[in-house]
Amino acid sequence: MNIQGHKSPDMVSFPLDIPDVKVNSVRQNEQGDYIITVESTQGYAVCQQCGRRTTQFHGYNGWLQLRHLPVLGHRVYIRLRPKRYICPHCAGKTTTQQLAWYVAKSPHTKAYEQHLLVQLINSTVQDVSRKETVGYEAVNGAVERSIHTQVNWEEFAELSVIGIDEIALTKGRRNFIAIITTQQADGHVAVLSVLPDRNKTTVRQFFETIPPRLRPTLSTVCTDMWDGYVNAVQEFADCHPDVSIQVVIDRFHVAKNYREDVDKVRKQASRRLKKELSPTDYTEIVQGTMWLVRQNHQDLSAVDRKKLRRLFEYAPELKLAYTFREELTAIFEIPLTAVEARTRLLKWAEKVRRSALTGFDAFLTTLHNWLDKIVNYFVNRHSSGFVEGLNNKIKTIKRRCYGITRIVTLFQRLYLDLEGYRRFA
Ligand SMILES: [Zn+2]
Repeated sequence: MNIQGHKSPDMVSFPLDIPDVKVNSVRQNEQGDYIITVESTQGYAVCQQCGRRTTQFHGYNGWLQLRHLPVLGHRVYIRLRPKRYICPHCAGKTTTQQLAWYVAKSPHTKAYEQHLLVQLINSTVQDVSRKETVGYEAVNGAVERSIHTQVNWEEFAELSVIGIDEIALTKGRRNFIAIITTQQADGHVAVLSVLPDRNKTTVRQFFETIPPRLRPTLSTVCTDMWDGYVNAVQEFADCHPDVSIQVVIDRFHVAKNYREDVDKVRKQASRRLKKELSPTDYTEIVQGTMWLVRQNHQDLSAVDRKKLRRLFEYAPELKLAYTFREELTAIFEIPLTAVEARTRLLKWAEKVRRSALTGFDAFLTTLHNWLDKIVNYFVNRHSSGFVEGLNNKIKTIKRRCYGITRIVTLFQRLYLDLEGYRRFA
């Protein structure tokens, strides 16, 4: 921006960096905002009817004031009167000139809109609205204008690994939606779709939208233990001879399952000890151990481990469940082949079955039913990191976007979080 007539030592001037305009004036209002009035230097418009260029000037529209990128912490607005041209070919049809750096009906320049989108990455509309002093609807408008509402397959050269995950949209109710993502060869995770439910038909319909050129590149689908997903993938593969997919049960979903069982054992033991121990002993031995039990043993300090051992003296059933849990987790950490892993998992299950512990009974059935697909994890283990990372991402999105009920909006926000820095920063 060039502030004309001022050449004092504390003045700076720099280019406005907006094409096809000249600056007529710059002033600052009482709030300290810079108001830059510009005039178009582009001498034509593209006729909205015939698409031809017309250079026949017709007049000016009313003033536009567009929010632009801040300068030295001050808000900046660009003011201009769009020019109107008349088309000699279209019986006097007039067209408003459209310049490249803003979109009709947007209250912002394109550059500022991108700035808003970058602010929105991993954040919330409310937060960005407050920080930027921009209306809630204006931030939403930027999302609506700039982010498409479904996957653009052109952006993909391969799919290789697809992950299916779910989140509950409304708290407390089992109202799940499914989120479909892919991990690219360079490790980048991209969102492919947000489905309104996790029924087989819905999931199958999504797979059918994958363009034929990408189908043969798909090799692995990572999912939770849910028949709707697995059967949809199976049917899809059965219908397309060029498709060969290995279904892998995400190890972190498996872990969630057996870890919850240990938690149940802990709760039972805790209730029992509340009756058996004196209040003082209970406080000293049992209280505050929930997080100790939930942590992996390797992450505990020496003091924590001592406290845990003390608890185990009074709750041998919990010690047993905990030990089984740590053994099972260790199996997933060791670099085993699928065959070795199967043997280890079966041995582990046998040991648990022969023990006095009943807390894992339901999990043993699950393990038995899904064993093949759980073992598939060991074939191509790099997929786990992607699902784990994504799970964390989804968790935070769920927290931040709680209240978003439109799945289209959820797709856009997920897209922004995952692609925003690459596309808009
Ligand atoms: Zn025309």
